[in-house]
Amino acid sequence: MVSNSDFAELLAQEAESESGILVRAYRRAARSAFLWPEEVATLIEQNRPLSELRSIGPFITKRILRWIDKAPKTKPRPPAIRRDFIALADARVLLAKDPDWQKQLRGDLQMHTRWSDGSGTLAEMAEAASARNYEYIGITDHSKGLKIAGGIDERALGRQAAEIERVNRRRDSTTLLKSIELNLNPRGEGDMDPKTLAKLDVVLGSFHSVLRVKHDQTQRYVAALRNPDIQILGHPRGRIYNYRLGLKADWPRVFAQAAMLDKAVEIDCYPDRQDLNLSLLKLARAEGTRVSLGTDAHHSWQLEFIELGLAAALKAKIPADRIINFLPLDELQRWVAKVRKRGKRSR
Ligand SMILES: [Zn+2]
Repeated sequence: MVSNSDFAELLAQEAESESGILVRAYRRAARSAFLWPEEVATLIEQNRPLSELRSIGPFITKRILRWIDKAPKTKPRPPAIRRDFIALADARVLLAKDPDWQKQLRGDLQMHTRWSDGSGTLAEMAEAASARNYEYIGITDHSKGLKIAGGIDERALGRQAAEIERVNRRRDSTTLLKSIELNLNPRGEGDMDPKTLAKLDVVLGSFHSVLRVKHDQTQRYVAALRNPDIQILGHPRGRIYNYRLGLKADWPRVFAQAAMLDKAVEIDCYPDRQDLNLSLLKLARAEGTRVSLGTDAHHSWQLEFIELGLAAALKAKIPADRIINFLPLDELQRWVAKVRKRGKRSR
C-alpha cells in the first residue's frame, strides 16, 4: 500500500519537476497529505472522491490515481529536508495497534491563543481540551521578544494569568496551566523577567532566530538547558518541512545534559515541524531524557496534532515514565518544583 507519507513525497517530487502554478498546487498537496485524516487507499477502497481531502482537486486526483494504477517500484525516498515526518493517517493506524499508549496522555504542553498569534480564546482552548478528556493544558503564548508573533510582556502575562484563573474557576475538568514559550536568543538567554517566569506553572523555552547556520550548535543547546528559568526545550532542531533543515548539534551530548538537569526536550507535534523527530528521539531515549509533547496549536482544532507526537514517541520506544504529559498534574508540578530548586542551587 502507498501510505499518505509516501504520497506526500511523491507530490513534493512532482512539484520539483513541474513549473508554473502546478508547483504550488503540488507543494500544497504534499504538505496537506500530513493532515489528511484517512489513508488515500481507504477512500479509494470505499469509492469515495479524493476531493474529500484537503488540497486535492480534479487534477491532483488524476495524478494520484495514476500512482495507484502503477505503483512506484520503490518507496519514494525523501531528501533530508522532508525526511522523518509522519502523516496523521499513518499515525492513527500505528496508535490503533497499541490503544493503551495514548490512554496515558493527560495533556498538551504547547499551544497559542489570541493573547499572541493563536486564533482561539483561553475558554475555547479549554473547551477543546475537555472534549479530549485532558487533565491539563499548558498555555504557551509567545514572549515579548518575538514581536512578529505578537509576543506578550510581563504585564500582559499578568492579565492573562487573571483570565486563566477565571476560566479555571468556571471549570471542573481541564486545568489551564500558566506557561509561556520563552523566546531564547542563541546564547540560551530568555527575554522576560525571571521573577515573572518563576510564578508560572511551567516554562517552555525555544529558539526562533539564527536557525539557518550550518556549524555545530551544541553550545547553544547546553546554554539553553542550563538556563534556570526553563524546564522544557521547545522544537529543539527548529526544522520546517520542505523549508528549513534545522540546527546541527552533538545530540547525545545535548540529551545527556538535559537528563543530568532532569529537563525535558519537546516533540513539537505540528505537522510541518515534528521536532524532535524519530531519529533524534531514539538518541534521547538512550540518554534517558524526559520528553514533553506539545501540539503548538494555533487553533483549537489543531489539538489533534498530538497524535503525531504520540506516534513518534511510540515508534522511538520512549518509556512511558519519561513522558511528562503522562504524569498526573500533581506529579508534573512536583517535577517542575524539583527542577527549579536544582537550578537555584547552581545559579
Ligand atoms: Zn516556537
